[in-house]
Amino acid sequence: MPKPIDYYFQLPPEARPSYSPLQEELHPDFEWLNQNRARSRGKDVFEAIDTVVIHATAGYATSHAVENWHQKVASAHWIIPDEKEPQHGHFVWGTVAEAKAAYHVRDAITVAETALGDGPNVNNRSLGIEIVNTQDVQNYQDPFSTWQVTMTARIVLYAWAKYPNLKHVISHAKLDPTRRDDPGIQFPWDDFKNMVLTHSVLPPRNPLVFETVDLDAKEGGSCCSP
Ligand SMILES: [Zn+2]
Repeated sequence: MPKPIDYYFQLPPEARPSYSPLQEELHPDFEWLNQNRARSRGKDVFEAIDTVVIHATAGYATSHAVENWHQKVASAHWIIPDEKEPQHGHFVWGTVAEAKAAYHVRDAITVAETALGDGPNVNNRSLGIEIVNTQDVQNYQDPFSTWQVTMTARIVLYAWAKYPNLKHVISHAKLDPTRRDDPGIQFPWDDFKNMVLTHSVLPPRNPLVFETVDLDAKEGGSCCSP
């Protein structure tokens, strides 16, 4: 079983999915977080993003993580609810816009240069996923649910389909090993990696995508003419 400080894999360009929908709802604090807990990436988002960082909150509710972000300068792009929350099994929370950098990793971590091969500024180039999980802090046992692991994989598949330069999937522990060990030893990294690389949890595509638009049928109508 791999340890959190070793959690890492790369996304091979030839296996990139062509699509991947995501069941996401914007968190009620989305706007506040984007104004107060996010910054410009300094470049176009499609060019910038090459990394996804996997975190766990060390708490047992989404609200704990969001309250913490109000108190400290911290944030991430998504939160995956715990199995005791009503949203579990339905959708993940979008908390910071993908176009912006969130504050989920320390800016000055030199280990990123060796782990990712390109400079320490991880927030500007990454997306951050927080999974609500106690990480067994104070012996509060809290296994990750299958749905949480599936949704973590689906977010990565969604981002992989969307961002052409996305290559690295890495734990916070590997990026900042002296200070962090999330998502923790309980996170089934090998299963998660398999779900991503085999596309086994990719949701079916809406068949309407393949319906052609019959432009001829609109000719002569009032639609679309200047
Ligand atoms: Zn973390």
